[in-house]
Amino acid sequence: MTDQKTQIVVVGGGAGGLELVRRLGSKYGRDKHDIILVDRNQTHIWKPLLHEVAAGSLDANLDEVGYGGHAVRWGYRFFNGTLESIDRDTKHITTAPLIDDQGREVIGRHKIRYDYLVLAFGGVSNDFGTPGVREHAQFLEHRAQADSFRQRLLNACLRANHEHNTGNADARVRICIIGGGATGVELSAELYNAAKALRNYGLEVFDESKLEVTLVEAGPRILPQIDAELAGVAKHELEQLGVSVRENTQVVSVAEHSVETKQGEIIPADLIVWAAGVKGADGVNEMSDLELNRLGQFVVKPTLQTTLDDHIFALGDCASCTLPGEERPIPPRAQSAHQMASHIFDNLCRVQTGKPLKDFVYKDHGSLVSLSRFSTVGSLMGNLVGGRMAVEGRLARWAYQSLYRMHLIAIHGWWRGVSLIVIGHVNQIVRPKLKLH
Ligand SMILES: Cc1cc2nc3c(=O)[nH]c(=O)nc-3n(C[C@H](O)[C@H](O)[C@H](O)COP(=O)(O)OP(=O)(O)OC[C@H]3O[C@@H](n4cnc5c(N)ncnc54)[C@H](O)[C@@H]3O)c2cc1C
Repeated sequence: MTDQKTQIVVVGGGAGGLELVRRLGSKYGRDKHDIILVDRNQTHIWKPLLHEVAAGSLDANLDEVGYGGHAVRWGYRFFNGTLESIDRDTKHITTAPLIDDQGREVIGRHKIRYDYLVLAFGGVSNDFGTPGVREHAQFLEHRAQADSFRQRLLNACLRANHEHNTGNADARVRICIIGGGATGVELSAELYNAAKALRNYGLEVFDESKLEVTLVEAGPRILPQIDAELAGVAKHELEQLGVSVRENTQVVSVAEHSVETKQGEIIPADLIVWAAGVKGADGVNEMSDLELNRLGQFVVKPTLQTTLDDHIFALGDCASCTLPGEERPIPPRAQSAHQMASHIFDNLCRVQTGKPLKDFVYKDHGSLVSLSRFSTVGSLMGNLVGGRMAVEGRLARWAYQSLYRMHLIAIHGWWRGVSLIVIGHVNQIVRPKLKLH
């Protein structure tokens, strides 16, 4: 009988999962271990860039990472598939049949054995059961949705430009964004940046004055994760750009071209974006008998192992981790996914050498929100800045960009990561400012 390799399966190559397989592959290679990444897509794009892809200010083709090539480079295997179920008794996962764009089956339902399984497949937007959201609002959860939004945005701008040229001076592009968290705020500002540039791309009469963006937040203020004062600065900046910021406004239904609020107001819109809240993926209840919280996220112990199975770990947006002494779970952010990935890597290394697992410690490095090239606001935490420090402007912009740079280094290593950062700067200078296709 041949010795079976230790098989570590990571489902989801996002902000956390891709960093984890890179480190596992690089440490263990393929001799005694088999590290397998399963993702429903063939390429990775860092989710916090999606609002820039949606507005057209970032060409995702330049920042995407192909899992196949990355796997060969770093010593793990990639399997293109969507997790369907987990069988804890036989220690297998099953992926759904892979179907091509013509509806033909490429690969049938497939089983993969695991010794250790890491669930890192993120979450989805929480529509809180609001009628009409699924049918009429756009989400920004993956690249295809960001691309589709960009295309619809461009069409709406072309239409408004044409109407202006044919005598309708009132033609506008009306966009309603629901959710005043980082995604909604960043997208609002990014849209004005893109609209400003459109005039240079053949839409002679279109500019930011023809854009009407309404940002709707159910809570008392936008950006609840940062200081009230800084959130006020962000609100002021948005209003200066032309965004109508509506706080204390709950959306009760969404129709094809309008949004209805609890106060009975109808907000007309050509495009509607839902960016409110995160919950576990659809269908997660049927996947396994693992413990879930009320939002459908896997409940994990401080070691980041799931509560019912020590061989299954979970990280990032699909996990719910409330550390001892804390009242709230760790927030669904890129920095949480990154830190959890590092911790699971350490714990998986400890398992191999028979050492006891360590508890996760979350270090909140602060929260930063980019208002496109207009401004960046937020707070930084840590010894370096002596506790919590409010930041704005260049320092905030630099810290915000550092998050993505750290991700590039984590998935590509130092040499390649730094090279890609330099190439990114060059591209910013030499490439077109907008992606219009
Ligand atoms: C527009 C936007 C802006 C954001 N901005 C910020 C920000 O500025 N700062 C910040 O800290 N956070 C930000 N976030 C949140 C941050 O992106 C997430 O918290 C983070 O990406 C979560 O990482 P993850 O590894 O848990 O999952 P993800 O990065 O979401 O990756 C999940 C992966 O799993 C794959 N997958 C999903 N389902 C399956 C399945 N069933 N089978 C196989 N594969 C599957 C997906 O294809 C994807 O590759 C933003 C999010 C969005 C949408």
